[in-house]
Amino acid sequence: MIREELSEVPEYVPGKSVEEIKRAYGLKRVVKLASNENPYGASPKVFEVVKNFRDFHVYPPKNPVELKERISEYVNFPEEMIVVGDGLDGVLENVFKMFVSKGDTVAIPIPTFPYYEILAKIYGARIKFLRRNENFETIEFDEKAKLTIICSPNNPTGNVENFEFVREVAESVKGVVFIDEAYAEFTEKRLTKLAEYENVIVGRTFSKAFGLANLRVGYAIMNENFAKEYMKVCPPFPISTLAILAAITALDDIEYVKRTVEKIVTERNRLEKALGKYFEVYPSEANFVYVEAENSDSVCYELERRGVIVRNLKNFRGVRNGIRISVGKPEENDFLLKTLEEIF
Ligand code: PMP
Repeated sequence: MIREELSEVPEYVPGKSVEEIKRAYGLKRVVKLASNENPYGASPKVFEVVKNFRDFHVYPPKNPVELKERISEYVNFPEEMIVVGDGLDGVLENVFKMFVSKGDTVAIPIPTFPYYEILAKIYGARIKFLRRNENFETIEFDEKAKLTIICSPNNPTGNVENFEFVREVAESVKGVVFIDEAYAEFTEKRLTKLAEYENVIVGRTFSKAFGLANLRVGYAIMNENFAKEYMKVCPPFPISTLAILAAITALDDIEYVKRTVEKIVTERNRLEKALGKYFEVYPSEANFVYVEAENSDSVCYELERRGVIVRNLKNFRGVRNGIRISVGKPEENDFLLKTLEEIF
């Protein structure tokens, strides 16, 4: 009875949890550097809001106007162009619902975030995998694609795409270009401005720099007509009021976010240098570092059983011997480096 398309769909596999690894190896200290979370967490002001929340019995608003206003100020696009969803994952699903019918072509540069491929398969799309150069910049596109995905900074490789190239893609393709900027706050080299094009959608999230991954708040910038259609495919109450208030409060305390991003970027630069002793390291514009090693499988295993969780990318399409390491707090990164020294 299950739709035939699902036979081709792999399940999304998240990073392993601290609890899981503590139990598996009987460890007291486990550091998780596997899901690109903000190790400093959300602004303390968010904790106050959550503590005082009482309206659990009331449905959230269908259209969270105040949050949209605040996002509009933050990204500098009119409020009519902002839509929200339950995480950027939720926004992505809505975008697929809007544009992808069975047999349409979805173009995906690889390696990249695996959820795009999962969604494309769920919607019965024909997938065109696009090639990247040795720096992982996308170097081709498909003019006929109904939907082209650009992830910048790219998960898992950490590089940004060339602005002029993506502009060319937007001007050349017949369909829509979705630019996933989940990690926008960690780089200066953003593509957000390209949302000025009618056929470009830019997606963002509160899960990374804002430290709200657990509350599931994502958003996108898209032209006004698209934004109206989005409201048809979006489930009735995508984000809880608690999450809406938390996101607004996180935006109020943007100075906190900036401070944590600064610390993460400083640590990222330190890790990039230090990891060079063991791996081939690729420069990153995100809050994680992509490395390669012949023996990546055993490195991940040896790290894990000593209490360091990193992301083994062996199931990522187009990756060979890749490991993605999220940037933690200085003491967490020290623990990683000490453990690597022990292993090597
Ligand atoms: N896009 C990319 C590139 C990501 O890495 C992630 C997080 N795994 C997402 C989207 C989804 O983020 P969210 O938590 O907002 O659903």
